[in-house]
Amino acid sequence: MSSVEVRTHTALHVLKGAVVKVLGEGAKWTASVYVDGNHGRLTVKFDRKPSPEEVAEIERLANEKVKENVPVQVYELPREEVEERFGEDMYDLFPVPPEVRTLRVVVIEGWNVNACKEEHTKTTGEIGEIKIQKVRFRRSKELLEISFDVL
Ligand SMILES: [Zn+2]
Repeated sequence: MSSVEVRTHTALHVLKGAVVKVLGEGAKWTASVYVDGNHGRLTVKFDRKPSPEEVAEIERLANEKVKENVPVQVYELPREEVEERFGEDMYDLFPVPPEVRTLRVVVIEGWNVNACKEEHTKTTGEIGEIKIQKVRFRRSKELLEISFDVL
């Protein structure tokens, strides 16, 4: 990953935290993520199209978390230990294979916990501004796609 992609990838974690704050636990399962340069896309399971106000609030909260410039903590721990500590909330829709015994967990305190092997910025402030470009709800698959750029 290039350094801009490290920022874009880390933005996925910040954005996901904001999505769950605004849309609730019903949006907690990440289905897929995509990063290309400063462009990213977060896809979560969800059952309706969010209102423009909700989308604006997601963007506002995400950028607030960037401005807070909090640490992006990375732990590498035995699977049992992290599962006991963080539960299923750290997992995405498609689970980590059972043979994986040590997990890298990325924590933005009080915001987002995710088992993730990618590279991240050390703080949220390094990400830069997050601009949501497009939101698409795919009703047949109950998937919500949020496309964004980091500026
Ligand atoms: Zn990550």
